[in-house]
Order: sequence, then C-alpha cells, then structure tokens
Amino acid sequence: MARKNLTFHLAERPKGNIVPGKTFNLVETDAPTADDLKDGQLLVENIYLSLDPAMRTWLYDIRSYTPPVAIGEKMRGGAIARVLASKSSKAKEGEFVFARSGWTEVAVVGEAEFDTIDLPKGTQLTHAIGAAGMTGLTAYFGLTEIGKPKAGETVVVSGAAGATGSVVGQIAKINGARVVGLAGSDEKCKVLTEELGFDVALNYKAPTFAEDFVKATPDYIDVYWDNVGGDILEKALARAAPHSRFVICGGISGYNSLDQENHGIRNIFQVITQRIRMEGFIVFDYRDRYPEGKKQLGQWIAEGKLKAKETIVKGGLKVADAAMSSLFDGGNTGKLLVEVKPIDQEEVSRYVTKYLAR
Ligand code: NDP
Repeated sequence: MARKNLTFHLAERPKGNIVPGKTFNLVETDAPTADDLKDGQLLVENIYLSLDPAMRTWLYDIRSYTPPVAIGEKMRGGAIARVLASKSSKAKEGEFVFARSGWTEVAVVGEAEFDTIDLPKGTQLTHAIGAAGMTGLTAYFGLTEIGKPKAGETVVVSGAAGATGSVVGQIAKINGARVVGLAGSDEKCKVLTEELGFDVALNYKAPTFAEDFVKATPDYIDVYWDNVGGDILEKALARAAPHSRFVICGGISGYNSLDQENHGIRNIFQVITQRIRMEGFIVFDYRDRYPEGKKQLGQWIAEGKLKAKETIVKGGLKVADAAMSSLFDGGNTGKLLVEVKPIDQEEVSRYVTKYLAR
C-alpha cells in the first residue's frame, strides 16, 4: 500500500497570528517514491522541522527578501531529513541532510534544495538546524560583522532566550562583553544568567522593566541586537552610547500586523545625536561564508563554550501550525523544532559517531 503523506498548504492570509486549523489546510496524498526521482534528486522524510518567526512574514503579499507563499502553495520550510533514496552524488540513502522540503512528511528535493550536514564531534544532529545552523549563523555573522562587540562593551540582546538571541549573547560573552538579555519570563531570565552566562537578564513584561532597563545599562548600550522591534527598540535607542551599533535582525513584535499602518519609531532622533550605526541584514547575505560560521559554532559547542538550547515539540507534522503560533506567545526557549517523525536515538548516535565525528 502506498505510503500516505501529510502536507500543509496555505489556505488564507491571516489577520493577526496564524490560526491553527484555519490558516493552513492539512492535506493527505500518496507520498512520492524512489520511482519519482530524476537525476540529482533525493527522496527525503522530514524528521525535525524548523519553525521560524520569519515564516509569518512570508504569508503577506508584500515586498520582502523572499516571494510570498501563494494561497494553495505548500508551506515553505527547512528540516533535518533522512534520505530514503538518492539519485544525487552528494548524499546517500540513510544519511541526514538539511532539506528545504517544506511542511510535509516526505518530499523530493533537488541539489539546490538540500545541504549536507557537517558538524564536529561533540555536537548533536539537531544543532545543524539551530545553534550551528541558520539561527546560529545569523547570530555569528550579524554580531561579528555588524555588532563587532569589544571586550568590556555593553551588549543588549532582545529576544535573548530564543534561538538566535541565546547564541548572540553567548558569542558576545566569548568576545568579553558585558551582556544584558531581555526575555518574556522570569524562568527564561534564569536560564540566561544561570545556564548561558549572561551578566544580567530582564523580564520585559515586568512592571518595573523601564527602570530595570536604565539600571542595567549604566554605561549605556554599545551594541543592541534587535530581534523584536517595537517599544523595546525605542527604549534601547534612549540608552544608546555614542557610536553604538544597532543590529536589526528581526522585529517579531510587528510580524502579526505588517499589513497595518506602521507607526514611527520614537527616539529615532538618537540615531543622530549618538551617531548610531543601525544596520539590517539577512543571513543569506553570508551564504558564501556558511562553512566558516558552521565550523566556528560547532567548535564552540563541542568545547562547551556555546550551549545550544532547543524546544522540540512532539506530535508529528500536524502540530506544526500550533507550534508556529506559539513562537508569538514565547512558547519556546532556544530553537523551536517539531519532531515530524520520532526517531530511534540509537540510530542518531550511530550516525553522529560515524559522520559527525570529524
Ligand atoms: P526565537 O527562538 O527568538 O522565537 C521568538 C521569540 O520571540 C519568542 O520565544 C518570544 O520570546 C519572542 N517574542 C514573541 N513575541 C514578542 C513580542 N511581541 N515582543 C518581544 N518578544 C517577543 O526565534 P528566532 O531566533 O528564530 O528569531 C528571532 C528573530 O530573529 C526574529 O525576529 C526573526 O525574524 C529574526 N531572524 C532574522 C534573520 C535574519 O537573517 N535577519 C534570521 C533568523 C531570524 P519571549 O518569551 O522572550 O517573549
């Protein structure tokens, strides 16, 4: 009997946060098979699906860095996937790859749609999608190329307990900076200071946040890493040091309302008075340098200098839409993944020992 395959397709452009069971249609079809492969292609099954806030921005019909997902189109996304059959010289059956295979269980991907996984000993398979994958690379290149923190400087990170922010703060510590993390709960703040080595962590939902923020930045902010935008960015502008660098990585607080009239940013005048350098970037800008970034991040993880936090949601592909909406409620600490297919952890260990032990 043919294997069945679940896939999410975009049903409608949401107003506000995505609504599980409504924004996407979950469709069941027959899965593709090895017979469907053309030269250069792989048949893969997704194991861990990556969920990223930016996916929400792909659901608008607006000008962006990537075309919008069309109504009826398979939802785009990346996953750690196992190769079921191969007609590519780049990956063999049984190997794991990072595949841009979308929100589905089984897919056919061409060579431009997958990357082989190459991590050093001491790392885990899931790190290829988080701390030594896309979000880690975002932190690494954004901080080293734009933020450029120096020893003793104050680095403030918003969204600090998330996938990108948690790595940004730890790299800033490796560079000798004083690091202040901002996160949405006391539990997350505890993780930042007690597990990840941040000097200070502030709960931005606390009623005393405005005063806490001023107290935590007595020498002002040299590097501000923005993952959230909105009024936290405005507060950071008011605390900017002369010649500070503002790395504009994301603005999740506005992602559910990009179709509404955008309001101005208060305190933007400080960009002039403090000669702030404010720069946005997309991690893809550094594609040619990914091997360098992955090597460094993997090495830091292996040496215990970088801790890779993850939240893995179980329940198969069908929970992906609910898991995605939870990003906007702070449901995750570290990288958010959906376990599309439970995997024998011994198989993963054997794989890691065989392939990632370089
Ligand atoms: P995260 O793991 O950080 O998850 C999102 C977190 O954002 C949540 O856990 C929540 O944590 C926080 N959050 C949600 N809503 C709000 C809000 N209204 N105000 C403040 N915080 C909020 O996701 P990623 O690490 O994948 O992404 C972080 C940011 O980086 C996003 O903006 C993303 O778009 C951007 N990004 C940019 C890239 C680029 O190339 N420029 C590449 C990758 C990511 P809390 O509990 O603290 O509220």
